[in-house]
Amino acid sequence: MPLIPVAAVLIDGASDDLHFSYAIPDNLFGMVAAGCRVSIPLRNRTAFGTVLHVTEVDTDATKYALKPITSLLDDKPILTEPLMKLAHWMSDYYLAPVESAFRAMIPQAVRSPESAEKTRKVVRLKSENIDSETIEKLGKRAKKQVKALELLKDAPENTISLQDFSAKHRIARPSITALEKLDLVEVIDETVQRDPFAGQTFVESAPLTLNPEQVVALDAVVQACELNREKPAKPILLHGVTGSGKTEVYLQAIQHCLDQGRGAIVLVPEISLTPQTADRFKTRFAKIQDQVAVLHSNLSAGERHDEWKKVLNRQAKIVIGARSAVFAPIENLGLIVVDEEHENSYKQETVPRYQARDLAVVRGHLENCAVLLGSATPSLESWKNCDVGKYDLVQMKKRVDDRGLPLVRVIDMRLEALKQKGQIPILSSKLRLAVEKRLEQGEQTILFLNRRGFARSIMCPECGYVAECKHCSLTLTVHREEDRLMCHMCGYSQLPPRQCPECKSKAIVNAGYGTERAEETIRRVFSTARVARVDTDSMRKKNQLRDTLAQFKAKKIDILLGTQMIAKGLHFPNVTLVGILNSDVGLHIPDFRAGERTFQLITQVAGRAGRGDIAGEVVVQTYTPHHSAIQFGRHHDFEGFADEEIQMRKQFHHPPYFHLAIITVRSTHQQRAEFSLQTLHTRLKRNLPDDIGMTEPLPSPLIRSHDQWRFQIMLKSVNPRSIAGHIRSIIKDLTFPDDVIVTVDMDPHNLS
Ligand code: ADP
Ligand code: ZN
Ligand code: ZN
Repeated sequence: MPLIPVAAVLIDGASDDLHFSYAIPDNLFGMVAAGCRVSIPLRNRTAFGTVLHVTEVDTDATKYALKPITSLLDDKPILTEPLMKLAHWMSDYYLAPVESAFRAMIPQAVRSPESAEKTRKVVRLKSENIDSETIEKLGKRAKKQVKALELLKDAPENTISLQDFSAKHRIARPSITALEKLDLVEVIDETVQRDPFAGQTFVESAPLTLNPEQVVALDAVVQACELNREKPAKPILLHGVTGSGKTEVYLQAIQHCLDQGRGAIVLVPEISLTPQTADRFKTRFAKIQDQVAVLHSNLSAGERHDEWKKVLNRQAKIVIGARSAVFAPIENLGLIVVDEEHENSYKQETVPRYQARDLAVVRGHLENCAVLLGSATPSLESWKNCDVGKYDLVQMKKRVDDRGLPLVRVIDMRLEALKQKGQIPILSSKLRLAVEKRLEQGEQTILFLNRRGFARSIMCPECGYVAECKHCSLTLTVHREEDRLMCHMCGYSQLPPRQCPECKSKAIVNAGYGTERAEETIRRVFSTARVARVDTDSMRKKNQLRDTLAQFKAKKIDILLGTQMIAKGLHFPNVTLVGILNSDVGLHIPDFRAGERTFQLITQVAGRAGRGDIAGEVVVQTYTPHHSAIQFGRHHDFEGFADEEIQMRKQFHHPPYFHLAIITVRSTHQQRAEFSLQTLHTRLKRNLPDDIGMTEPLPSPLIRSHDQWRFQIMLKSVNPRSIAGHIRSIIKDLTFPDDVIVTVDMDPHNLS
């Protein structure tokens, strides 16, 4: 009985994981495999899809003729076998379609055939055919042609692009065509590498001699990377204070992998994927810098395509990137590093809502490779995993060269507010004096404020009116440079009212302050200082951040004021003072992680001070000086904080002891959203497994966003699989009205 090969194809954009079978035509025989991208006929159009698996069926079994695959989009599978497994794991755990996992794994720039390779036409000298006689003959008639030949002779690889000929040298196409006819030159297509680092040169940095703590850490990673081990090693949590030299450990661990012929992935939070971070890796591996690929959201589609193809073609052995780089198809992976593993930006907030740090651990397991999670303030999830023996803990408690951790002063802003009557106190007198001292000594200061814009809101002191977004239940932020009120949720903006829209009072005022207003104050108070502000508003242009940081490094800026964009990863030896203007910004929101985040912030920001030879100082301004996040932060006491916080989590059944899932129902119709959630709740309640706890349906903390009403239920269990299984079993039989959107967020970071 004749067997024919058949491919199961999951079509791009399929919401339910239905796949279709296609025949493999003779010309593609033996080339189509699981993980390949293909184009296929679907009804009357051509669609794209990913091959799930290839099987053989006997021709009699297929009564109807299967349509054949139209073409193969790449010459090899784009998803490796472990990545396919990871996609299924994600689908299962996060309740997301497999197709959405594929979409997360293969960037749009790589999927769409349009952004494929870019080529340009270049002219190349056929040097063997040229002699002085020819030139002499030409010279009489065609000066341009002679000039073209001379330019080509001097050009690198005897090649110049057509565009350069016309734009730079004013030699038009007919002259080139004439030379082509004489067989002196050829015009060919050349692939252009869109390199985000084009024009930069990297000077190799030598590995440093490790201190004893670093040696222990590196040994642990090397052990875990050991080839031929029977089963995957445990993930390692590297808890190292800021400036303890974690990056140096990463670099040497990667080198070890390369020596073994294996590759490595380094994940860094999007926000700290500064040029500085990428450069450190590029310089260490300068000799092989074309083997280092960098993936982040600031790349153009073309650059992303080319960086990614470098990985796929096995040219790149090291990938540095944000969250989605956890999917980089590196073959023979030896190590995944997750730097600042506690960072929120590892959580993807759209479907599939995955946690890249957790996926790194899963992938490490699937590919039998080492996983190294690093942080000065580990997440309580990872801390607990060390406690129960799932992860190995390695600690580096000292800064490199025994430099001390900076002295942290806590300033009670309630007293300051009394002193500076009638004004919003932005700078306490202590902080002001500290900055002045730095200016006198030619040292630099970083001031941190995690709120952009001019003022937090606009309000009327007579009637209490506060300007809110039309589309969200959120106050509008005042932006003075644009003279607009803006919603930081949906982007809506409007002119600021000149009088109160409710009571017509003209006494309407700005409340609170953001970076714009702080900048104004700082420029006024320190009138001779050179000040730069870094936030998403002031850094819109490409390379602006890079340039500003370079200026700061070159000591052309005295005070750098910024949002979380400057909180992490930066290394400036001349910074001896760091001030946190308002450390309470994130403390009083209804989220059990508020304290943890504030502690992390203080520690990370403080880590920017005193990284050179001079000791550093940190000034933390707060209205709640006795809060444990601030008190432990002041003493750089992560373990003290973690022990206390984890007790509280245990008592209140919060993560990391319990896993959460939030089901949110959204609709532009308030009642339809509420009603749908009610129905869902009733069904979930029936046969609710004993190990799951569930809240009543409630309005979400952010009840309206982007014109949609939002209601939620929270489920809790020590067993995340149990939650996912139960929700899946209920949801699959329910249909909701078209304008109702139901989302499930497993292990949510954002509770609103
Ligand atoms: P972390 O990532 O823990 O904050 P870094 O890796 O950025 O720390 O190290 C801080 C500084 O110390 C860097 O300038 C780095 O080059 C330097 N450094 C790291 N390890 C050593 C070492 N063993 N000897 C000398 N300097 C080191
Ligand atoms: Zn809005
Ligand atoms: Zn009013």
